[in-house]
Amino acid sequence: MPQTKHKIFLVKKSVFGATHSHAGALNEGAHGHDFVYEVKLYGTTNDEGFLADFRKVESDMMTLVNKELAYKNLNAVLQMPPTTENVAAWIYGKMKTVYGATLRSVTVYETPESYIIYEGEDA
Ligand SMILES: [Zn+2]
Repeated sequence: MPQTKHKIFLVKKSVFGATHSHAGALNEGAHGHDFVYEVKLYGTTNDEGFLADFRKVESDMMTLVNKELAYKNLNAVLQMPPTTENVAAWIYGKMKTVYGATLRSVTVYETPESYIIYEGEDA
């Protein structure tokens, strides 16, 4: 049967535990978070009626993000101050290598009430 194409958002969430500490104005010693994050894709559904396979998105998040950051000291892994802002930009950079222009944003929750949304520099 014919498949009408749709412009849709696809969002996949995951979580990893990690520690960080902040020098400078944030001035905070080492502490941990369960960083919940979500990857948002945007695009047009294909002939089969979907944008991306959730299983592949999850697999890419596990390989590119969780495997690299889980149970790590983010100060040591990231090549920049490990603020939640920079964690979001780092995840965005990793996912961009696979999803290109389909990647719309990355959101990282430091707590349920506090989160960062990163849409890339040209958004
Ligand atoms: Zn923190």
